[in-house]
Amino acid sequence: MKCREFKWSLWLVLCIALCWSACSKDNEDESENPGGTEVVEPPFQPSAYALNIVYFLPTDLQPFEDYQRRLSEIMLWIQDFYRQNMIRNGFGNRTFGLDMETDKLVRIINISGKLTADGYPYEGGGTIATKEINAYFAAHPDEKRSEHVLVIMPNTKKNNMDPGGTPFYGLGKFCFAMDYRYFDIKYNGLTNDDGLLFTKWFGGLAHELGHGLNLPHNKERVSLQATLGTALMGAGNYTLGLYPTYMTEASCGILNNCQVFSPVEKDFYRDNNVAREKDISIKFEKEYIRINTVFQAESGVIVGAAVYFDNLPAGGAANEYDAESWYVKPVATDSFVLDIPWSELHFPKKDFAIRIRLLFTDGHNREFMYRFEYKNGVLEDYIQKY
Ligand code: ZN
Repeated sequence: MKCREFKWSLWLVLCIALCWSACSKDNEDESENPGGTEVVEPPFQPSAYALNIVYFLPTDLQPFEDYQRRLSEIMLWIQDFYRQNMIRNGFGNRTFGLDMETDKLVRIINISGKLTADGYPYEGGGTIATKEINAYFAAHPDEKRSEHVLVIMPNTKKNNMDPGGTPFYGLGKFCFAMDYRYFDIKYNGLTNDDGLLFTKWFGGLAHELGHGLNLPHNKERVSLQATLGTALMGAGNYTLGLYPTYMTEASCGILNNCQVFSPVEKDFYRDNNVAREKDISIKFEKEYIRINTVFQAESGVIVGAAVYFDNLPAGGAANEYDAESWYVKPVATDSFVLDIPWSELHFPKKDFAIRIRLLFTDGHNREFMYRFEYKNGVLEDYIQKY
């Protein structure tokens, strides 16, 4: 190639490269900031409480190597995921507190179980371990940083590429997850066997932790599925780290009053928060379900409501995966107004319940459920004064 030709070719390549880079930058900007404005993070508000992390060891098992470093990196990633979702949903730069030993290492409380691994099976093992952990905290009250406890138990199966055999669920303020040899954040996002295995147990931990932090199941709305992906408290345990996964406004509205998200020390989870219905109106119009409700708080302060459209059967953890959710603030002290667009619902033509979960400032929730069934394709409005 002659020198001049070479220069022209080089110039052409450079122009194409510049143009491509400029065009792709435009596209990137559009996809990252659909609103066109830069997101400025509000100042971080550290929590006054921390999640207790327990490594619970049956008598016949050993912790997997390097567990504190591996679990610390995983927990810091999940802590930041919760933080970003709190910001996006307008609840401030907050997340659950972790008790840090150093900048990078989370304090993990080692508790030895009284039984061998067989004594803590998936079914019922969580309840047995909870009793022993509560006894430990009763004897060591200084080590307890909040009411919320994440319990991690080592894999009981011999094959570390097919781990399992431990409790894995939420149980009140306790939740259970599992450690195994390859449970390491370095596999996050990989689509090979290690990566897919990691997503299952990593997404599972983040999801079960949500239960341990007061969260019920819910599903992404139709429009948000396209932009934000899958709700963590729906099927997000299968997608976290691999595909777009997010936390709904309703989930973050509940976390807003969770003890380990609180920037200040105060009383949490009083049992006597009671509210009653005063005036409930749920009307069905062409484009919207119009909800207009007044509740009377007999004790405590209602700070918001999570509202669910839950296809029947509704209520109870196993039935709530399909419930699209909304968060509303009270209009005065305990009135809520919400329009649910039919277009946001995955199965609008199936019978359903509207569940209104009142959220109190002390973290306590109280739910009211209204069932609706189509009669000859038509729904009847519900208007009731109490
Ligand atoms: Zn769940």
